[in-house]
Order: sequence, then structure tokens, then C-alpha cells
Amino acid sequence: MKQPLLSLVNINKFFGDFHVLKDISFDIEQGEFLTLLGPSGCGKTTLLRCIAGLEHVHSGDILLGGGSIKGIAPNKRNVNTVFQNYALFPHLNVYDNIAYGPRVKKSMKEGELKDRVRNVLELVQMRGYESRMPHQLSGGQRQRIAIARALINEPLILLLDEPLGALDLKLRKHMQTELAQLQRKTGTTFVYVTHDQEEALNMSDRIVVMDQGEVQQLGSPREIYNNPANYFVTTFIGDRNIMEVQVLDVGPTSSRVQVGDDVVEVRSSRQHHLVSGEHAILAIHMDKMRVSCSEVPNALRGQVLSVHYAGSQIRIQIQVGEKVITVVEYQQTDCECQEGDSVYIVWEEHGAILLPLEDSRIKGEV
Ligand code: ATP
Repeated sequence: MKQPLLSLVNINKFFGDFHVLKDISFDIEQGEFLTLLGPSGCGKTTLLRCIAGLEHVHSGDILLGGGSIKGIAPNKRNVNTVFQNYALFPHLNVYDNIAYGPRVKKSMKEGELKDRVRNVLELVQMRGYESRMPHQLSGGQRQRIAIARALINEPLILLLDEPLGALDLKLRKHMQTELAQLQRKTGTTFVYVTHDQEEALNMSDRIVVMDQGEVQQLGSPREIYNNPANYFVTTFIGDRNIMEVQVLDVGPTSSRVQVGDDVVEVRSSRQHHLVSGEHAILAIHMDKMRVSCSEVPNALRGQVLSVHYAGSQIRIQIQVGEKVITVVEYQQTDCECQEGDSVYIVWEEHGAILLPLEDSRIKGEV
């Protein structure tokens, strides 16, 4: 079997009494774009800093190419970090900023260095900016230089800590595409930290979803989005309507559940162990639901509270029993429903997920 590039093995870390990383284990493969995603304070940056060697771990091990790097100094690990605040030297021009690392390490002659600076500047599309000072660059340009400065060292892994966080929305979206392309072009392994799920879903090969110092799920963007492993991931990724239901029958591929006064058949995209008679959580993507004015089978009945037009999107709020459901439609449908209308809500077969209620009670949220 192919050896992973980096293995995290039962990593635990404390800040005083605070257990910030709890028994974290996963592998990072050569050449992948892996993102650590989670809410603020869940431990993403701390984990990244442990990989970089900027924080020490209390127990567990970090293996790079099969060998432990736990006691090795950050500058000897062959990993480079790009931070949100760029950290360029303000008194050095672009060329000297990029050349700084190899010059300190005396790892190449000036002639070779010149070629390499030119190559990395080309990669980040900044040829011609060699003599500019950092204050003469835009935020996006400074971030590209910070990335070029890391890439010139040809690290085995590039660690990126919210590198686009300081940019405005439009530039951030543009840079997301550029970064993903750059990663594919160079084949360098990227470990990327963000709390922005859209950014993670857009760029990554795989995503590690974290909460409160623990890994909640590791999978491809599609897996994470469509098959959340537990209640936390279900509510953190995508916009879903969350309803408490009673399970009436459990079949091999679908279950019959009672939602308020309605009984519907639900095909869950991930099979959790459920028992007839128990209460459960039904979660359905808002944009995988449809509203119909005429009666349709296997639907929830409700009354329209509001219809809000926002560009290409129509957001319809519907009272279903005691719950308010939001449906997001992207095109004008046959149902021209209005406030006060009685409607039926259906959903795409794979848009729903049924979870044990206990899972959410642990988090104290339902
Ligand atoms: P964000 O998205 O806000 O950057 P994060 O997931 O990267 O959050 P971390 O920066 O890893 O979170 O912090 C995890 C927890 O550890 C937080 O509760 C933070 O307050 C705490 N923490 C981080 N650094 C230290 C430190 N040096 N001393 C004590 N506590 C710390």
C-alpha cells in the first residue's frame, strides 16, 4: 500500500487545562489539497502549527514520509507556512523577499536563484513585479508573493492558514480558483485552514471537519455535503431544514416517519441505526426541496408565510406544524405560490438525511 506523506497519530494538545486537540489521527496523501474546516476556536490553526513545528504536541506522533518529525525544529521539517497577514519583509522588494529563504539557507547560487524566482513569480502570475516594495502591492498581490516565497523552498507540504481571509469577497473567489489551479500545477501537497465552508468545498480534494478539538468527518467535498456523518456536520455544512420526527417503520433503504400531522417515506443518504418508535432528526437541504400548489404524494403540507425574490433565487418560508421550513428555488416553477396559500413540499430523494435524536441532544441543540 502507498505510504501517506504525513500521518497524524493520536495527537493530543493542551493549553494549560484546556484540551484543545483531542486524539486526532488521519493521513495526508502526497499531492492532495486537504482542508481543515470548522468553526472559530475548534483547533484548526493549532493543528496546523503542530504540523509546522510551531507548537509542541503533548502526546501522539507526526510522521512525515514514515519518520517522526516530533522533535524536529520548524525550519528543518521541509514544510512551509503561509499566514493570513502575508508576513512579507516590508523593507525588501518582491525579488529579495522571495530570495530570502534560499539565501539564508545558502541552498543555491545567485544564477540559479534568479531562474527559480522567475519560475515561482510566473506560477503566481506576478512576473515583472520584482522591484516593487510590499506597500506598492494590493492585498491579493501580496498574498501571491507570500505563496511564491514559500514555494521557492519546494516544501513537501505547504501549510496555508486562512490565506485569503483578509481579501474582499470578489478577490477571495478569484484567488480560490487561482490557488486550486496552482496546487494542481505544482503538485505540492496543500494543507489549508478555513472556517468558510464554500471555500473548502470549492477547492479541496478532501476536507477534515473539526469541532471542539475533534475530527467530526473526513471525506471528499461531495461526501461531506451529501452524507454528513453526524448532527454537527449536518448543521454546519450546507443549509438544511432540521425537523424532529417520529420513526414509524425502518426499512432497508428507507424509513416511514411522522412529521407533525404528515407521514412520509424518507430515503436517507446515510444509514444510521434507527429503531421504530424512536424520535429522530430529519434534515433536508433547502435547495433540494420543491413547493407544489397541487397535492403530491409523500409531501409535507404547509402554509406559505413569505416569498422572497433575491436575484436568481426564490426563498419561500412555509409553516409546517410548529416548524418554519425554508425552501430555496432557483427557477420560477409552475407553483406561483403566495402568502397564505396551502402548499405541498417534496424533496429530491437523496436530499434528506435521518439521524438519531441522541446525536443532536449531545450538542444540546434540539
Ligand atoms: P479561528 O478560525 O478563529 O482561527 P481555530 O479553529 O484556528 O480558530 P485555534 O486558533 O486553533 O482555533 O484555537 C483553538 C482554541 O485554543 C481556542 O479556544 C483558542 O482560544 C485557544 N488557544 C489558541 N492558542 C492559544 C494559546 N497560545 N494559549 C491558550 N489558548 C490558546
